[in-house]
Amino acid sequence: MPSHLLSKSSYIKGLQCEKHLYLYKHHYEEMDELTDMQKAIFKRGTDVGILAQQLFPVGTQATEGSPPDYKNGLLKTQELIEGGENTIYEASFQFNDVLSIADIVVNENANFNIFEVKSSTSISETYINDAALQYYVISNLGINIKDFSIIYINNQYIRNGELDIKKLFFTESVLELILPLQDFVKDKVKRFKQVLMQKHIPPVEISEHCYKPYLCGFYNYCREHIPEDSIFDFSGMHLAKKYELYGEGIIKLDDVPDDLLLSKNNKLQLKSYKNGKPYIDKDAIQNFLSDLKYPLYFMDFETFQPAVPFFDDSRPYQQIPFQYSIHLMKKEDSELKHFEFLAEPVEDPRKKFIENLLNDTRGKGDVIVYNKSFEITRLKELVRDFPEYADEIEKLTLRIKDLMIPFQRKYYYSPEMKGSYSIKAVLPALVPELSYDELEINEGGLASAAYESMQTETDLMIIAEIKQQLLEYCKLDTLGMVRILEELRQL
Ligand code: SF4
Repeated sequence: MPSHLLSKSSYIKGLQCEKHLYLYKHHYEEMDELTDMQKAIFKRGTDVGILAQQLFPVGTQATEGSPPDYKNGLLKTQELIEGGENTIYEASFQFNDVLSIADIVVNENANFNIFEVKSSTSISETYINDAALQYYVISNLGINIKDFSIIYINNQYIRNGELDIKKLFFTESVLELILPLQDFVKDKVKRFKQVLMQKHIPPVEISEHCYKPYLCGFYNYCREHIPEDSIFDFSGMHLAKKYELYGEGIIKLDDVPDDLLLSKNNKLQLKSYKNGKPYIDKDAIQNFLSDLKYPLYFMDFETFQPAVPFFDDSRPYQQIPFQYSIHLMKKEDSELKHFEFLAEPVEDPRKKFIENLLNDTRGKGDVIVYNKSFEITRLKELVRDFPEYADEIEKLTLRIKDLMIPFQRKYYYSPEMKGSYSIKAVLPALVPELSYDELEINEGGLASAAYESMQTETDLMIIAEIKQQLLEYCKLDTLGMVRILEELRQL
């Protein structure tokens, strides 16, 4: 069985950048390590793919394994087709050195319907290109494709009792879109094969294309020459402008000429970098602080977004709050009190979350969050799903103040923040002794993935460990806010 040169994923990489395609095939070891978040997204794609097979419940898997054992998959697919199998999952095909593994193939008297499953909630241009390549491979093998559809998630589906697979997924034919692309695919396949045969890495400069449709896996490899303090740190500057400067050879912050037209924030950022000192607008900070009403409740939520809704009255990808941490400061310099909530896995966490939250924040005083739009949107969703708590939740919402403002509006900026005003950048700049580095879970996306993993975990030791990690992470977020506020006061 001859090996293939291209696959669906390498074809998409080639469309993004020929250097990406080449590096992926010949210098795989240089690829950035997958983050836990990326692994969780891949796993979600696989899980959704398996679930969608239930739309065609009686079928046979042709290609097994991860990475897929395509050699056996090709043989088995051929056998199954010749044997008249009606439904084949993960069917492998190869034509002109291109391998394609189709998620679901339905054979109706030698007329084939091909289905590609995506865990997204819409059909993107990349999916069309991916489908066009598959059509190219399968149809050129002499197989009569009657229709080609993409199955994707209906984000308006609201679960009520048992999962209704037929309502969870949309199935949409893309045949009319992929037929006109066949000549394009043929040309690209020819071109990409030539690229892969070259002896040298294609000389492609970094640019905006490195981010679309996906962040390139060789992002760091191609940016080894970018120094620590570069124009890519400019906050709020369009990517196009950054790459324009890069193209002109302005790369280090030290290279930026004094007469370059910059936004007010970028000027301030540059000045602070060049002076090596923080920028502090004491009056603005003072105004922000004097507006706070004690007692202060420092509050942070964690949420997860299952692609397939676990609970009644929830939709695909709905953000479900499952955890919070609150540090209560009764008055300036008084001792802190800590409250926390972490839902048990499997059960719908929302009601207990609301009840505990309302209990722990009852009374007067401001509720301090970092990036209030996140918490406020979650609270509004809880009002929508549990209107019986509307009054109390709305009162709580009115008390919310945003600790991000002094940093977003640059009342305080220090070079260590590297243009960012996220709490992950602000905390180490202002309170270096408090760090997320030692924590197993050290960002919100990982907290979501960890909580979601508990839904199917049966090992109690592992569950206990994840719970502990989640509690430590969320607690640090609110303790961090307390310390940041104290630092602002010192200023
Ligand atoms: S980082 Fe950019 S230039 Fe480098 S391989 Fe990826 S897409 Fe191409």
